[in-house]
Amino acid sequence: MELQTATTRVVIDLGLPLVDAQREPFDSRSALAKPMDILKAEGVVRSIPGLFDSDHDEPDGILLSHAHLDHTGLLPLSRKTVPIYTTSGTSKMMLAAGVFAAQTELERTRFREVASQRPFNIGNCKVTPLAVDHSIYGSVAFLIEADGQTILYSGDFRNHGRKPGMLRDLLKHLESKPVDVLIVEGTHFGSEKERGLTEYQLEDRIFELVKTAPALVLATFSALDVDRIVTLFKAAKKAGRVFVVDPYTAFVLHLIGKESKAPNLNMGIRVFFNHLFERRKNLKNLGEKFKSARIELSEILAQPSKYLMVFRPTMTKFDFNGQLPANCRCLYGYWSGYLGRPDWVALKDHIAKVGGDFVPAHVSGHAYIQDIVKFVKSVNAKTVIPIHTFEPQMFQKYFSNVRMLTDGTSWELS
Ligand SMILES: [Zn+2]
Repeated sequence: MELQTATTRVVIDLGLPLVDAQREPFDSRSALAKPMDILKAEGVVRSIPGLFDSDHDEPDGILLSHAHLDHTGLLPLSRKTVPIYTTSGTSKMMLAAGVFAAQTELERTRFREVASQRPFNIGNCKVTPLAVDHSIYGSVAFLIEADGQTILYSGDFRNHGRKPGMLRDLLKHLESKPVDVLIVEGTHFGSEKERGLTEYQLEDRIFELVKTAPALVLATFSALDVDRIVTLFKAAKKAGRVFVVDPYTAFVLHLIGKESKAPNLNMGIRVFFNHLFERRKNLKNLGEKFKSARIELSEILAQPSKYLMVFRPTMTKFDFNGQLPANCRCLYGYWSGYLGRPDWVALKDHIAKVGGDFVPAHVSGHAYIQDIVKFVKSVNAKTVIPIHTFEPQMFQKYFSNVRMLTDGTSWELS
């Protein structure tokens, strides 16, 4: 989205869809290979003057709330001269996803590091990043003050993660600052997610699942979701199992080691060097860093009930020779909408064949409906604009000051 004052133009997030209009997973990667005019015709790219072309002056900056593809995916198409303002956490998540998941890293020359609660200026806009809890490390909301107006952009957030204090701090920051416009995510509007488990309750559930598992437990989840790494680490510890991570997860923990309280490799975590990592010669240095925590598959298979192991579907073929260990339990830690994808269907079938079970164990990165309602009421903005939702009209059920804006339309604040 673009925000324009008399002298300044700021773009907030620049994502690719993760879900299409039928609410099916959208193939973001192949979308980027299409020519710009097709992306524009399909509505994937919006015409923001000077952002993708050099026919106009470029915007003054891009504010990046977090490193999920539906907020960063179009950055590679944007002009290389536009600076990108984001947290060091987000730049690190983009680095990790660049190295291990073929996503785009943040270009160092464009990166302007910002920190929560520390205001900075872009032209005549005063911008204050405010940390929010989300299913990826380094996420922030942005408070923008310009031309006598105050706008809060929530980014993606929740109040049921491991850091509920973040939302309290954000609201405290707003106490003396009336907000004119709240631009807020509403992912769960239109779903049944009135309320659900917290990440702490998920930790208890995973602990039970690990404790009662007869053999090896495999955990699938996004390595960038540091809350989930902590949840799995703690559940494994309580159940008396060793937590074995893959190099991707180890790299994330390494990157944030100094600035967060997340567990590190000196706390009994072991690293399994999977085949796809081993065959990448350019990552040898990383291998050196994790060497002292390395564990071989033979050690795991000798006593499978001793371990909770981070798992990727590609490991079935490349590391387990097409045959997962008998009676293994696989914890599925992604959005349930991805379960219909062929690789997950095949994995489920395979696990059933070896006498194991495949158990969804996940909580959402997005606020539940009742938390959004509470948040919107607390911010108490004059106008509320729903974004990041298929059901923006649902906001009107709860609030009388909703402004519905469709994609591609502009609105003048006065
Ligand atoms: Zn997100």
